[in-house]
Parts: sequence; C-alpha cells; structure tokens
Amino acid sequence: MAGIYVHIPFCRKKCFYCDFYKTTAIADKQPFLQALKRETETQAAYLEGETVETIYLGGGTPSVLEIDELAALLGLFRNQFPVSPGAEITLEANPDDLTPEYLLHLRAAGFNRLSIGIQSFDDAALKKMNRRHTARQAFESVEMAAAAGFSQISIDLIFGLPGQTTTQWEDNLHQALQLPANHLSAYHLTYHEGTPFYNWLKKGTLHELDEEESLRQFEILTDLTARAGFEQYEISNFARAGAYSKHNTGYWTGKKYLGLGPSAHSYNGSSRRWNIASLKQYLEKINRDECCFEQEILTEKEQLNDYLITSIRTKWGISRQFVQTRFGTAMLKTVCDSVKNYEKTGHVKTENDRILLTHQGIMISDEIMVALMVV
Ligand code: SF4
Repeated sequence: MAGIYVHIPFCRKKCFYCDFYKTTAIADKQPFLQALKRETETQAAYLEGETVETIYLGGGTPSVLEIDELAALLGLFRNQFPVSPGAEITLEANPDDLTPEYLLHLRAAGFNRLSIGIQSFDDAALKKMNRRHTARQAFESVEMAAAAGFSQISIDLIFGLPGQTTTQWEDNLHQALQLPANHLSAYHLTYHEGTPFYNWLKKGTLHELDEEESLRQFEILTDLTARAGFEQYEISNFARAGAYSKHNTGYWTGKKYLGLGPSAHSYNGSSRRWNIASLKQYLEKINRDECCFEQEILTEKEQLNDYLITSIRTKWGISRQFVQTRFGTAMLKTVCDSVKNYEKTGHVKTENDRILLTHQGIMISDEIMVALMVV
C-alpha cells in the first residue's frame, strides 16, 4: 500500500502566514504540467510492487487547475501505477474556486474527497491573513460540495490567531460543525520564518496570543468536536464515523509515498527525499533530465524516531510489538523508559500493546515527543 502526493505550486495570492512552497506565476502552468508528467514517468519505479491506495493533490492551490488538466493527471497516474479501484483521491481546494459545475466535474473525473482550505469563518481574520475568500464563500463552498455528491469533505481551520478571542474561536467551530463536513484539521498558527506574520511579530506590530489562551482554544476545540461526534484521531485531526484521511494516516503510520512537484517529499521506509523548492529550478532540472531531489538514507535510529514521533500523535499510538520486532528488545526498553515519568503523571498510558497519549498528554505532546526521541 502506498500513496502519491502531488504539489501544485500555484497560488493566486500568498497568505501572510504560509510557508509552503508556492508561486503566483500561474502562466507557468503548462510547462509545469509537462514536467510533472515527465517526473511521474521517470519516478514510477519508486513505488514498484506497491498498490496505490491514496492520491493527494495539495499545494499551493490545486483548484487553480482546470478540470481537463486534473483529469489528465489522474489518467497519467492510473497509467503509471496500479491504482486501487477504491483509492482515496483528494483535491485540496480554495473555497472561491469551487462552483457547482466544477464540483460535478471533479467527481466525474474521479476525485472522491475534498480538503477545503477555509482557515476562518471571520471576515476580519481572513483579511488579516490575506485569504482570497470571504466567510460566506467558505460556508457555501462546503454546502455546494455536499450538494454535488461529495461525502468525504474535510475543512481546515487555524486557531491561536493574533487577537483572536475564545468567543471568536468558539463561533468559528460552531460554524464549522454545522456544515456537512466529516473531517476537520485544526492547527494552531505557527510563525514561520520568512513569512510576513513572522516579520511583523519580530517588528512588534503583531502580537502572539498568550500560551494560556492558546491552550484554552485547544481545549475548546477538543471539547466542541467531541460533542459534535468527531473523534480526535490525531492531535490536529478530527473525523466523524471513522472518516479518517487515509492519505495522512499513511504518513503517520509509515506507509511509502512518492511526492511529485517542487518541494514534494517522498518516503520509502529506509530513505527520504525532497524535491527542489523552486519551480524555475524544478523545470530546468526535469527538462535537462537531471535529478530534481536530494536524498537521505535513514539510519535505524532515525527510522525508529520517525516511527515514534508520528505514531504517538495518533489514536493508535506506538505499537510495542512493532518496536520490538523491528528494532529489538533493547530499543523497546529505551522507549518504555523514556515515557515512564509521563505515565506516572497521567500524560501517557499503555493499553495492551499500545503506548498512547492521554488527553493531558496531548496538551504537552511536543515535550513528550522530545523525550521519546532516541539519541
Ligand atoms: S495557505 Fe494555501 S492558498 Fe494560502 S499561500 Fe499557502 S498554499 Fe497558497
């Protein structure tokens, strides 16, 4: 079982908090699509012997592509890889790109899941973040997607915004939870170096929310989602009735994936690679038949650490059996010892084979992940 991630690097404008690789040079769409085809053909062997269970078009903004361009991409993947008939095929979309017609065509082309980047239902906050859409467009896009027959809809929200009050965050969640979406990803704002938000924070023209308020907002998130029937299956991800993102679950459970497009990452269990984060250089390299990625072979310890810090984030936790079989008894002991104190304080629990974060543990997950790392 494996996944394919495609990074579509185009955005119509740049959000002030975002550190994903993106460009507004949408005029380069055709050369990019040609290069992507070439990259797919030359890298298909990376997933040799694997059935593709998930395809995820992210970015950037994949919904800047026309339907025939998206359909051609899915056709290409079906040609190059054994794609399972029940594969989860997700498109990330911006609310203002979605129209009833576009949505119907997306379904006909084979997309069966949408991840809609809403971020906020508050017009002032959307403006502050330099988002393209309004709160109303965000709301309507989810309703339109459901009306077009999408049953797998995820929405993204950001909390911990500068100046955001508890009540404002609650209002956002109430809006989100009444929509026909069965998946929610909610991330606390991070000030990434190089973004306008980071620069304004450093200049003192923008102020970080205090830690107490951030924690309160996270508590509200877990509380309201639980009451609305959502399960927190990963620290920042919530699903109704088992509607987990299969693609992202693949990342957290160590499945192989091939990343295509500028800045995309790939992983095959023993190595990681990452494509060059520049459309210009990506095009030059692909067109010259040169390698467009850097690669790192993972040591045994790095493989273990990858497993520990991704699996502890999920409701499935760390499998002691897996650690023992794959990394040996001594490593299992090291892992168990590293969380002993957190077990005593009620932040970590062991259930049968699994080491899991408790609700209090989720609140200090970063600290526990650091403690888990084998050095
Ligand atoms: S958040 Fe999404 S739409 Fe905004 S700049 Fe980043 S990739 Fe583009």
